Amino acid sequence: MTFPLPPGSVIGLLGGGQLGRMLAMAAARLGFDVAVLDPEDGAPAHRVAAHAIVGGYDDPASLATLAELADVITFEFENVPARAIEALAAAGAEVAPGGRALAIAQDRLDEKRFLNEAGAPTVAFAEANGPDDIVAALEKLGRPLLIKGRRGGYDGKGQAWIQQPREAKAVFDAIGGQPAIAEAPADFRRELSVIAARGRGGEIALYPLAENHHEAGILRRTVAPAVVSPAALAQAERIAATLLAALDYVGVIGIELFERDDGRLLVNEFAPRVHNTGHWTLDGCEVDQFEQHIRAIAGWPLGPTHAIARVEMTNLIGAEANEWAKLAAEPETRLWLYGKAEVRPGRKMGHVNRLTPLRG
Ligand code: AMP
Repeated sequence: MTFPLPPGSVIGLLGGGQLGRMLAMAAARLGFDVAVLDPEDGAPAHRVAAHAIVGGYDDPASLATLAELADVITFEFENVPARAIEALAAAGAEVAPGGRALAIAQDRLDEKRFLNEAGAPTVAFAEANGPDDIVAALEKLGRPLLIKGRRGGYDGKGQAWIQQPREAKAVFDAIGGQPAIAEAPADFRRELSVIAARGRGGEIALYPLAENHHEAGILRRTVAPAVVSPAALAQAERIAATLLAALDYVGVIGIELFERDDGRLLVNEFAPRVHNTGHWTLDGCEVDQFEQHIRAIAGWPLGPTHAIARVEMTNLIGAEANEWAKLAAEPETRLWLYGKAEVRPGRKMGHVNRLTPLRG
């Protein structure tokens, strides 16, 4: 395959949720066709794609169909089996970002080890494969500790705090009795994130930092650009550049950060894909994270990332999306709906970006 891919080429996408839908819409704007593989017929991205493949992420026939159609393959869903990506690459498909970034991000312990080895600071942590390990971690790291399953789980699921050694068995059972990581408290004053991209030539583009607010473990609101100190900005830039280079990454990455009281940043985790905390870029930046990802994997020049508006992004969760008519009538509000037929509690149905002019 030679890059840059010309318009008319086909972008293959594993995962057909809202991130895939917004990626497909950005790809179409640049003249690409998109082939989407998702197990659910009529998934949000299927309905805006040229080719809809209904099948499992580990189904060889579906993966072969995707590889046949696509000039480059990417993913929007973190739980795509890393071995499916590796098999596609081994069969000669162009996959970006690579399976290694996905495999590391899928295991919280491997991820924290990788981050530390790459020089990115995290909370102190220990491996916790059972109650005895948890007791040992309490002795070593102090208390309380947050116990998280190594794999699976998102939006705060599969996690529990422990205060006392005698709770070790109950806490281990509560997270599903699975191999886990024990983490020291981050003691953060704010949660921030940085969305960054790396192109095929190794060039890097960073969006302004975003400040994130969670409710019940789910992202509720992002405010961007976040007001941060020059030192914090410089540290975030160093962290992003280090990770992207260490992963030999191509595409957009989302890096979740804790800002401590002393202003220092710690990395919580990274997502090897476009990220919910980057949805503000759709209306707040000239080139949004979705187009940026398509540009990067297609070998196009990266686009400008500076903010053109201040944005407050609010996720529309469950029945909140039923307010679409009222939201559509707000002049400074941009409404994004994901086309999900079934409203379920806790399900992300859309988001709004509320715009105000940048100060200064
Ligand atoms: P995670 O599943 O790692 O993304 O964590 C979900 C949320 O739990 C984060 O957004 C934080 O609000 C919180 N959290 C995660 N790790 C820690 C930690 N070590 N200390 C305090 N809070 C944490």
